[in-house]
Amino acid sequence: MLAAVKTRQKGEVVVKSVEQPRLSADEVLIRVDYCGVCGSDLHAYNHAPGYEFVQGPRILGHELSGEVVEGFGGAGRPLLHKRVTVESIQYCGECPTCRSGRTHICERLRVIGLHFDGGMAQYVKCDSRFVREVPGPLSNLAASLAEPMSIAVHAVEAIGKVGAGERVLVQGAGIIGFFTGIVCRSLGAEVIIAGLPKDRETRLVHAATFGMVPHVVGESGWIRDKADVVFECSGSPQGVLASLEMLKKGGRAVFVALYEASVELFLTRAVRNEWQLLTSYGCRPDDYTRAFGILQQYDPQLQQMVSVYPLAQAGQAFADALQQKVLKPVLDARG
Ligand SMILES: [Zn+2]
Ligand SMILES: [Zn+2]
Repeated sequence: MLAAVKTRQKGEVVVKSVEQPRLSADEVLIRVDYCGVCGSDLHAYNHAPGYEFVQGPRILGHELSGEVVEGFGGAGRPLLHKRVTVESIQYCGECPTCRSGRTHICERLRVIGLHFDGGMAQYVKCDSRFVREVPGPLSNLAASLAEPMSIAVHAVEAIGKVGAGERVLVQGAGIIGFFTGIVCRSLGAEVIIAGLPKDRETRLVHAATFGMVPHVVGESGWIRDKADVVFECSGSPQGVLASLEMLKKGGRAVFVALYEASVELFLTRAVRNEWQLLTSYGCRPDDYTRAFGILQQYDPQLQQMVSVYPLAQAGQAFADALQQKVLKPVLDARG
């Protein structure tokens, strides 16, 4: 089968023919339709700090949709020939955090496509416990967005606890920023999405489609009142400081991004404002259910937002994503 393999070389993904995965107990084989290129794939590709565990050669990819074509023994029989996606965070189910219901921060968590081979290939295998059936009306392309949308659902609903009428600032106009804004809009919040000057004619043009107000960082005259909640999705230390500038006293700041550098924050300021500084990581199984609903609601608009590349052009997709030429590259593994 064809696969996009991250080599040991920094910044290199090669598309080549590799052996199809062999199933073990409880595993199913998925024929991949689409697989998104995620920020964490780019971090791994770039050998960013915190990604030392992703050694090459590795088939990246955890944002996939496809069809179950085989199960080991009787594994996943109800899933056979179903359209599916997978939960990226594969948890042990036994450690204290798992037993408390917080499986997304399992002591022994493993992420498909980072800890072991993932979905940037024509076929991928997966433990059937983590395979989710895609609801009927959702397109296969939108289904590949279930994982990033679940991350946004987790950040907004479980951590940020955003309510109707609240004023939200999303810092960072990447895909997680947009999805975070979309979930906030679905709850009836007012959303401003902030990007950089270079995002003005590109990424930020999608804001109106989802009823968000676009803002270019550094430009004045936009905010009457500070935000009740800010979601930091930019991943840059400057983004962190800019978002806190816009947070009202007693507000919540939710950090959703992963950072390649340390952030210097004078905590007395946070204390005097009694800001709640919250972090959000990954998502829980339930978040997928809610994400499917939101994806269904915006399916055609979301299909317009993504840029589809044939699997054979994975290298180009990574290069374009890194240069932020596209908002969301998705690899097409069909055919
Ligand atoms: Zn992802
Ligand atoms: Zn666990």
